[in-house]
Amino acid sequence: MKKLSLADKLSLNKFEVNEGEPHIRIDQQVCRTCREKSCLTACPAGLYSEQNDQITVEWAGCLECGTCRIICGKKAISWEYPQGGFGIIYRQG
Ligand code: SF4
Ligand code: SF4
Repeated sequence: MKKLSLADKLSLNKFEVNEGEPHIRIDQQVCRTCREKSCLTACPAGLYSEQNDQITVEWAGCLECGTCRIICGKKAISWEYPQGGFGIIYRQG
C-alpha cells in the first residue's frame, strides 16, 4: 500500500462550513500596531493574508491547530472551536 504524503492526507479532509459564523475573529486595530505579523507565516494552511492594510483569515479552511491563537503576541485573535458538527473532519489522522 502506498504511503500517503502529508499533502495527500490533508487533501482528504472535509470541511463543514458554518456560513456567516466565523470561529476566528481579528481585531484590526491591534493588527495595525503589530510589526511581527507572525500569523502570516505561522498558519500551516496559509490562511492568513494582508491586503490594503487589513489582515484576513480564510477561516473556512482552518485545520483547528490553534497555532495562530498562540503565536499572536498581541492577543488580537478571538478563536473558538466551530459549533458542533462544523469545521474540519480529518480522514487520515
Ligand atoms: S500576529 Fe496578531 S496582531 Fe499581529 S497581525 Fe497577526 S493577528 Fe494581528
Ligand atoms: S488554527 Fe491553525 S489552521 Fe486554523 S487559522 Fe489558526 S493557524 Fe491556521
